[in-house]
Amino acid sequence: MTANSALALVSFDDAGAATGHRMIDPDEAVLRVTELAATRGDGIFETVGLSNGRPLKLARHLVRMANSTRMLDLPEQDPAIWSAALHAVADALGPADEGWVKMVLSRGIEGGTTPTGWAYGMVAPSFAPERADGIRVVLLDRGYRHDVAATSPWLLQGAKTISYAVNRSAYREATRRDADDVVFTSSDGYLLEGPTSNLVLRDGMRLRTPRTDLGILAGTTQAELFAWAGERGYQTSYDLLTPADLAASDAAWLVSSVRLAAPIRSVDGTAKPVDAALTTAFNDHLRGLTAEG
Ligand code: PLP
Repeated sequence: MTANSALALVSFDDAGAATGHRMIDPDEAVLRVTELAATRGDGIFETVGLSNGRPLKLARHLVRMANSTRMLDLPEQDPAIWSAALHAVADALGPADEGWVKMVLSRGIEGGTTPTGWAYGMVAPSFAPERADGIRVVLLDRGYRHDVAATSPWLLQGAKTISYAVNRSAYREATRRDADDVVFTSSDGYLLEGPTSNLVLRDGMRLRTPRTDLGILAGTTQAELFAWAGERGYQTSYDLLTPADLAASDAAWLVSSVRLAAPIRSVDGTAKPVDAALTTAFNDHLRGLTAEG
């Protein structure tokens, strides 16, 4: 039997390490009102894309999950237990064209010592229009310098925390400016990332992305595309980039695990050419990956 959504609740030992999972009805009430995921946004997550029921580039997500776990001083986790929960959810969804599974690890309930964790999955809406027609982006100042990760590690820039109120607010600002998405800039003028995506530029046969030490999330999609492109004759680099570099680039994308590569068709209202052929090649590659990818 398949479903539009599925949920696995993860269990933990006294040291806070995951020990297993059980499938439950996704409509069942399972979180306490003192749950720190809800009251403080104190936890981390990973969203893994599915293609025909198969998890995409899961190994990269599990590595990043371990990194976020360390950055938030949460208990170390066995990736095999989380992988099993994720696969169980993916199996329950069945071979839908596209979907996603979100793994969440929070600090648990107020005053407690055990984390809370779950893997929740859904069949995804079609992102075909964004992939084909492109997206309109606006540049928004994030208000942090480009070196914030080094000067202020307690801000957790670069960890995939569940505190996304700011990211969602940025999307509403984009809508107010008649755009679809956002590219954040640092207060000192460098390109960073989208609220849920990374930026990739093409200059001829060179792909460039902002350096991962700029307080941004190291993207699994961007890393996968660079590995693929590197084997096909593209040069790839992690750079300090400015809005002028974006304007001068031959093409640009926002890339992420569920929408995949969405070409940017305008920046602050100025049109940009869309590289339809490379967009299709990117997305075909991303969707063809296996769980071991
Ligand atoms: N940057 C941020 C802030 C994100 O939230 C995400 C994904 O949600 C990304 C970048 C893209 O990461 P990935 O390609 O691993 O999905």
